[in-house]
Amino acid sequence: MTATLMDGKSVAAQTKQILREEAEYMKKVGVEPKIATILVGDDAPSKVYLASKHRAAEEIGIRSENHTLSGIAKEGEVAELIDSLNTDSSVSGILLQLPLPQHLDGRRMIERISPAKDVDGLTSENMGRLVYGQASLIPCTPRGVMGLLHFYKIPIAGQRAVIINRSALVGKPLFHLLLAEDATVTVCHSKSRDLLGITRQADILISAVGRRPQFSVTREMVRDGAVVIDVAMNRVAGKLIGDVDFEGVSPKASYITPVPGGVGPMTVIMLMENTLVAAAKQHGLKEASVPIL
Ligand code: NAP
Repeated sequence: MTATLMDGKSVAAQTKQILREEAEYMKKVGVEPKIATILVGDDAPSKVYLASKHRAAEEIGIRSENHTLSGIAKEGEVAELIDSLNTDSSVSGILLQLPLPQHLDGRRMIERISPAKDVDGLTSENMGRLVYGQASLIPCTPRGVMGLLHFYKIPIAGQRAVIINRSALVGKPLFHLLLAEDATVTVCHSKSRDLLGITRQADILISAVGRRPQFSVTREMVRDGAVVIDVAMNRVAGKLIGDVDFEGVSPKASYITPVPGGVGPMTVIMLMENTLVAAAKQHGLKEASVPIL
């Protein structure tokens, strides 16, 4: 068996087209979706990620603006900026680019964002809604993973899903999304015993560790016919690679994501979808057709 490639780049491009039509419709009925991003400091990877988010916004027809604060900005300054964007009725969504410089309390800053504009879905209110199955703004990477599973019509109900990651950004929200679709979900982390024994049972295996070369998902960790989704982004010798030993695993898996070109583009497109969802909700646009995937 050779796995079918889950081509996130292509799925994201197709979704982008639909989002473009949705943004056009919104503008016709007088709603101008806009995302405001905040960068604190000048972290190089953050700048690259932000550039791709602004590019996607432009391609879809979502207005976007970036606010850069100095890397030594005090918490009060960041809070003040968030407050002003919260009350700016022209802003539909606010994205605080992570990670923040160490002296800032990231959790407190995220909580400052109005839940209605929290397009990363990371505030306690949106996370809580997710637990109760009532979320409209869902963290982008987990939504992107679900979007890929949906696009490729991967059965989820009754399947055994294993997630290697328990962060608030990836593992925890993904656990709830998979559970809501009736998967049997196991969440693993650095203290999990017998990881190999657990991953070998997975019908759907999702890895987001990001500790290459110390950690990788090898051929023996994957059962025949499993769907393997690689969320991780590791920079090794200047090259972007995931957790999964792609060459070793793909002959065994039924579906597999590449890195780059898998979950990454889906994350960006889900941020755009969340911006449209937020704009539609803020303006009471019940007939808007987002979310899509
Ligand atoms: P993180 O907070 O560092 O989470 C890493 C997780 O891996 C933790 O739960 C950790 O366990 C677990 N882990 C570490 N070593 C392990 C081991 N030997 N065995 C099993 N589990 C182990 O990072 P994150 O923010 O969630 O991101 C994870 C990865 O996803 C990174 O590579 C990041 O770049 C990537 N990412 C990609 C996208 C995208 O759009 N493609 C978006 C977000 C993140 P503990 O909890 O016990 O420490």
